[in-house]
Amino acid sequence: MVRQLFINGHWCDPIDGGVLNVINPATEQVFETCSAGGAKDIDAAVAAAKSAVQRPWRRTTGKARAEFLRAIASGIEEKKQFLAELEVKDNGKPLPEALWDIADAAYCFNLYADYAEQLDGRQGEIIVVPDARFQSRVRYMPAGVAGLIVPWNYPLLMAAWKVAPAIAAGCAVVLKPSEYTPLTALELAQIAADVGLPPGVLNVVTGLGSEAGARLAAHPDVGKLAFTGSVPTGISVASAAARDVKSISLELGGKSPIVVFDDADIDQVAEWVMFGIFWNQGQVCSATSRMIVQETIASRIVDRLAEEAKKITIGDGMAPGVLLGPLVSKMQYDKVFQYIEIGKREAKLVCGGRRPPHLNTGYFVEPTIFADVPETARIWREEIFGPVLSVKTFRTEDEAIALANNSEFGLAAAVMSGDLERAQRVADAFEAGVVWINCSQPNFLETPWGGIKKSGVGRELGTWGLNNFLEPKQITTYATREPWGWYLKG
Ligand code: NAD
Repeated sequence: MVRQLFINGHWCDPIDGGVLNVINPATEQVFETCSAGGAKDIDAAVAAAKSAVQRPWRRTTGKARAEFLRAIASGIEEKKQFLAELEVKDNGKPLPEALWDIADAAYCFNLYADYAEQLDGRQGEIIVVPDARFQSRVRYMPAGVAGLIVPWNYPLLMAAWKVAPAIAAGCAVVLKPSEYTPLTALELAQIAADVGLPPGVLNVVTGLGSEAGARLAAHPDVGKLAFTGSVPTGISVASAAARDVKSISLELGGKSPIVVFDDADIDQVAEWVMFGIFWNQGQVCSATSRMIVQETIASRIVDRLAEEAKKITIGDGMAPGVLLGPLVSKMQYDKVFQYIEIGKREAKLVCGGRRPPHLNTGYFVEPTIFADVPETARIWREEIFGPVLSVKTFRTEDEAIALANNSEFGLAAAVMSGDLERAQRVADAFEAGVVWINCSQPNFLETPWGGIKKSGVGRELGTWGLNNFLEPKQITTYATREPWGWYLKG
């Protein structure tokens, strides 16, 4: 049975009847079919969201919205195992990682429940102005209909990062998941329906980016557009949104550096560098895919990483002990192998670079490391979005910082050093929105997430994420009967 769209609290077929095949990347088999919603379905979903916002939803208290958010979090927790297994089949990631993502998604709904309650206390907050005859207050209005477009690398989690703050703010949303991984978004819709979220507050339209996504980005009734995905799509979405001067946030790609000094603990370096590039098969926007290592220890570190990379168990994400699953799709697999071929011409292949010989089916790629990578190399400059690490050496701290910052991206950066004063200095010099010292990738949902340069516009998570979906309104009162005396001179 083809999975339907969720619009205005009901499951429905797409108006033009399209179908999407959902493929398990470990088996290359179609295991589910979904509706390919198009422009007319987006129009119906936006209309439902608009009417939900106009109904009492926008006037509900933060406390009331918090109850829905907590109920959704509980619904996710109850279905944790099922959702995680669905994510493995849809995306390919190992089950323990999927369980982690699902727990984080539930946490996200609970966190924004807290923020929704706190928002009640912020409503009407007084701003002290320098003229005592006036009183200014701020009220926070929901941004209206929120269009949310998300990628395939953390399907439910990326949706949670946007849906939870939007609902906390009092918006109604239209969520467009990736065509590669649409299933957990549909489960989220069912959970929302089960907890009684009013019709139209959460609508989910599965479909192609070029059709459903493009219409959502361009829809004149969408007040706020929040997008996560690649730079080219981000540019196209931003251009479409600009026509109506929509409020927009963009979370885009990266090519993040990890700078390793010779006083760093070698075991810690091995652990975090590997996690930073091989976690989620390297399909992580903030993956630290460029290692910039002090020349004095470079060969020791590279040898150690190659030795550890060969120990990684690769296979179906459902199999116990697997650390590296398949890439999400044939398209991603082909793209990563194209970069590996380019890399072989540009640099020295240290390990990997092949499909694992024991796996004939599935989009598997061995963990791959290139050394002696020139700064001009494409594998150094471009986002590969796969398990491919590029290594370059440095001699001085200034050289390391210059190498790290010489990128069109600015999402994340990491530094490993036993000298915390130096690590802090380097962290301060990084041009990135997210910086790690002596680790790579840990992310707490209370903190701001987002990049500079081509990595995006705005920040998600924490109170920054909530503010994305709020429009502050200042209300200024002339609070005295004294004449103002500017035009009427008496
Ligand atoms: P993508 O840009 O191909 O697709 C992202 C979403 O946009 C999908 O839902 C897709 O259907 C939709 N889309 C595609 N074309 C569209 C169009 N013309 N108009 C509107 N929507 C359209 O990205 P992807 O391959 O799904 O994801 C990988 C990219 O996402 C990487 O570049 C990665 O770095 C980035 N990413 C960034 C973050 C972050 O927080 N900065 C997080 C995760 C992923």
